[in-house]
Amino acid sequence: MPGLQTWSERLARGLLARHDARGVVLFALGVWPPLIVLWIGQSMALLGWAGVGAFHRPVLAAVHGALSALLVWQGRQVWRAWPLRSVPPPPDLASKMLWPSLVGTSLLCGAYGWTDTPMPMVFMVQLVLARALFRWDQMRSATLFALLSMAVGVVVSWVGAGLSLLAEPLYTGGAMSPWWTAWTRAVFAAAWLPYMLMLLFYANVLQRRQRELEQLGRTDALTGLLNRRAFMERLAREAHRQARSGRPLTLVMFDIDHFKCVNDRHGHPAGDEVLSTFAGILKDCTREHVDAAGRWGGEEFVLLLPETDLVGGERVAAKVCAALRATAFVAEGQGFRVTASAGLAPVAQGHVEPALRAADQCLYQAKRAGRDRVRGGRSEMVPEGTRRGPDAD
Ligand code: GH3
Ligand code: MG
Ligand code: MG
Repeated sequence: MPGLQTWSERLARGLLARHDARGVVLFALGVWPPLIVLWIGQSMALLGWAGVGAFHRPVLAAVHGALSALLVWQGRQVWRAWPLRSVPPPPDLASKMLWPSLVGTSLLCGAYGWTDTPMPMVFMVQLVLARALFRWDQMRSATLFALLSMAVGVVVSWVGAGLSLLAEPLYTGGAMSPWWTAWTRAVFAAAWLPYMLMLLFYANVLQRRQRELEQLGRTDALTGLLNRRAFMERLAREAHRQARSGRPLTLVMFDIDHFKCVNDRHGHPAGDEVLSTFAGILKDCTREHVDAAGRWGGEEFVLLLPETDLVGGERVAAKVCAALRATAFVAEGQGFRVTASAGLAPVAQGHVEPALRAADQCLYQAKRAGRDRVRGGRSEMVPEGTRRGPDAD
């Protein structure tokens, strides 16, 4: 359902954005269901339709006035916030929503009872939503005030009322009518159902975000390959597997030849272009989901080839070097070509460090032997074709 998906994406973005105007709108969406249900119930009681005997009418009228004022005020803030969703919001937006909401709800809780009614649930919903949508410093003072009034309210209703239920000034002591029992349950459901859905959704959004961040933390930003840390983790895992299975595992290190000259002559952006193109070649020349390609740093790249012996690895490395050699680059109208050298080593008995050292040494030998070639732990393989420097064209 694309429509639903778009809405859920927008909601997810709104939750993560920590944007005060979006926060105000989402906060209202979360807190309005129980408050509106309560408002309807109170209106019916005042009109004499439901629960009349259970409440002191003047106190209920005062509570109703306060709740109506709170809803109107919240509506005004949403009205004000809605057009500001995509621009920097004014600094007072959050506090103008949070102060009256948290303090007003804590007063409502005081009237209805902190311990005997669903009202603390309504209060908790606001607190948690406020924490999810705003910064702590934006809600600190209102929250502390509300929590203090909660502490006082709990003590008063326990000690003052002698442990009897519904002893707050709002109640007459008369029996709750079936109507009010139904309203109480409705307030409960209206509080916890949307709240639970929002919390589940929020947890989902946070988890997705965490996965995205983990992925970002494992990826090299320029080339999209594994970064050094992620490659080392993969290498350690594959080495473990290799030690158990005894199957071959080959490590290849590449270094682009005279890369400094590429930067110097054609500019840094052209150098970056070479790096991303080389990353694409590494991906094209290897098996998806089996081999691993990483950027070791600067213009150095690594490949990990499971189930591949040194001869197979040399073949892959030579293919990569040949593909790079065959690629024509252009920067500011000037064509140029680039080559790379490679060193290979097998990973034996699960030992990573000796393999890294050996591959690095082979790479060094490939450089010393004239660059644009592959050198393995056991044999040297010079790719066929004409040798060229980085600027042959
Ligand atoms: P050799 O053939 O011996 O490997 O010589 P080289 O010039 O390739 O090696 P050197 O280590 O002297 O230079 C590497 C250059 O790579 C220097 C550095 O400025 C450049 N470099 C490192 N990272 C990046 C990058 O992300 N983008 C660009 N454009 N250049 C980079
Ligand atoms: Mg280098
Ligand atoms: Mg180099």
